[in-house]
Formats: sequence, structure tokens, C-alpha cells
Amino acid sequence: MSEPLQDTLGRPLGSLRVSVTDRCNLRCRYCMPEDDYVWLPRESILTFEETSRLVGVFAGLGVQKVRLTGGEPLLRHDLPDLIAMIARDTRIADLAMTTNGLLLAKHAAALKAAGLSRVTVSLDTLRPDRMRTFAKSPHHGDVLLGIAAARQAGFERIKLNTVVIRGFNDDELIDLIDFARSHHAEVRFIEYMDVGGATRWSMDQVVSQREILETLGRRFGVIRPLTDDSRAPAERFGLPDGTTFGIIASTTAPFCRACDRSRVTADGTWLLCLYAEGGVDLREPLRRGATDAELATIIRDGWRARRDRGAEERLGVTQRGALYRIESLRADPHREMHTRGG
Ligand code: SAM
Repeated sequence: MSEPLQDTLGRPLGSLRVSVTDRCNLRCRYCMPEDDYVWLPRESILTFEETSRLVGVFAGLGVQKVRLTGGEPLLRHDLPDLIAMIARDTRIADLAMTTNGLLLAKHAAALKAAGLSRVTVSLDTLRPDRMRTFAKSPHHGDVLLGIAAARQAGFERIKLNTVVIRGFNDDELIDLIDFARSHHAEVRFIEYMDVGGATRWSMDQVVSQREILETLGRRFGVIRPLTDDSRAPAERFGLPDGTTFGIIASTTAPFCRACDRSRVTADGTWLLCLYAEGGVDLREPLRRGATDAELATIIRDGWRARRDRGAEERLGVTQRGALYRIESLRADPHREMHTRGG
């Protein structure tokens, strides 16, 4: 076994998020609030063969965890085919997907059969009226059906992602814990981040990990931190009755020092940090006919030079506001969260 690949801060190349499309069927206010977008050119989108080949090269360099995301990954036609291609690679120990759940009921069984190990569903609110105003969608019921279908299809450790925003859903923390518990799922509260399309971000809308714990502690009693995988973004906690939940405190308590994640966009741009200004173009060498060894060299060199600590650096910004204005997102859609894949 060769030495694990490490960046300048000693962080291993561990998990890979693969965005399969930049398109989405929701318009969440914290991610895609605009009326129109500049999309990645269709011909630039990697085929399943290209994506699975890249994943294979990453696996050869130590990646064992892959998460499919987007945009909304279930908008990509025949996604189970890609899942089956990746799942065949025995070096990938964990193949997960993050979805908004709208189309999950239709596809859950096929995703499971194709070899998907785990599903995370984004669920910001339990109130359909809130989803209508906040994500411009009347289909809250479909998300709930999707969660139920995923469980029926045999997905066991379903996670629910909730971005907590003051004045929108911060009064639903307890209800979401109760919902997750009764659906055998685990909720992960995510601090609102000033990334990509969050052009309306401001610090006063961020509900911090500390506040979330205080609210839950008042209702449920003493909360225990659980020791867990130190490289996972969520810190996990336990309630007195054994219910567990996570918090991703990327805004107030970032975890850059342990970050082993990188992202490939649907057009093959490799991003070494969610906050990175730009990425490494892997599509060009791939389509030019580079061998796997040549692609591995590009990735190895890129990771060895990695020094990104984007979220920690944002902590030092005084008068912090949205990272990007809309003009700068239009100039380069790679900066969008829906392109980077959250
Ligand atoms: N469409 C899928 C979904 O909704 O889960 C996958 C892509 S989405 C970009 C991935 C995750 O990023 C979601 O859980 C979403 O809530 C989260 N996200 C997007 N913008 C965010 C922001 N500004 N702050 C925190 N989380 C954000």
C-alpha cells in the first residue's frame, strides 16, 4: 500500500462529492434565489462513462467515500446506471446521495437496487406553506413521500439536512427532531453559509450551533456530544432518550483542519474547497485522451499543493456579507452552490 496522499496541512484525500447536474427543481432562497441562471453548456456535462472513470482515478488515490449531488441529482436521467457503474468499484466503501426528495418516491427502489448505500434528503421545513414561499414549490408532500419510499426501499440510515435560518424555520428545530425520530431518520442542522448563490446572506440570519444546542437543551434536557468520525462535517449529539442528531457548524465553527473533501462539478471541474475561487479542469485532459496515470498525476499534484481553509478564512472577515454578488456568479457559474453541489 502506498503512502496516503496528503495536502500541505496533512489532510488526506478522503471523500469526493460528485455533482451530476447544475439544474434544480427547487429555488431555495439561500441557494438559487434568482429568476434566471447561466447554466453549464450541455456539451460540457460529463457522460456517465467520463464521470465513473474519474471516480475510479480518485479511488486509486485513496477516495473511499463518494456522494452524488447537484443541482438536483435525480434530474439526471438514468442516474441508477451511473450508481451501478460506481458501485461496481470495490474501493468505494460508501456511495451516498443528497437530494431534495421531490423525485425520490419514483426512484428510491431503483437507486437501492443499483447499489446506492445511503440517502440524505434536504428538508428545511415541515410546513408546506413555508416551502412554497421559501423554495417556490408546492410539492412538500412529495418530499415526505420520498422519505417514506426511501425507507421502504431499504435505505436505513436516512439523514435529513435542514439549513436553519432565523425568521424562517428556527422555530421548527424541535418539530424536526420529533419528525426525524418518528421516521427513523437523523436530522443534521446546517448553519446558513455565505456560499455561492446565497446572495442575500447576512450574519444575523445565521442560527449558530450554540443557539441550536441551547434551544434543544431547554426542551429535551442534557445533550451529550458523541465521539464520531472526526472528518465528517457534522458534529453528532445525543438526547437523553437516545435520539441522535448532527450540526454542521461551517459558519461559526468551521472544520477546515479536518476537511478531506473535494468536489467535481458536472462539467469536470475539480474544486478543492467549497469557498475556492476556481478549480482544476479535469474535462479537458479527459477528453484530450489523457491516460488514467496522467489524470492521477494532475489530481495528486493538485492535492499535494492544497492549502485551502476557506470557511476559517471567512471567520476573519470583518463586516461579513454574501461571498458573491449576482454579477460575479453570472460571470462564472462554477461559483454557484448548485454547480458545486453543497
Ligand atoms: N438538490 C440537492 C438537495 O437539495 O439536497 C443537492 C444539492 S444542495 C446544493 C446540497 C445541500 O446544500 C442541501 O442540503 C442544501 O440545503 C445545502 N445548501 C445550499 N445552500 C446552502 C447555504 N447557503 N448554506 C448552507 N447549506 C446550503
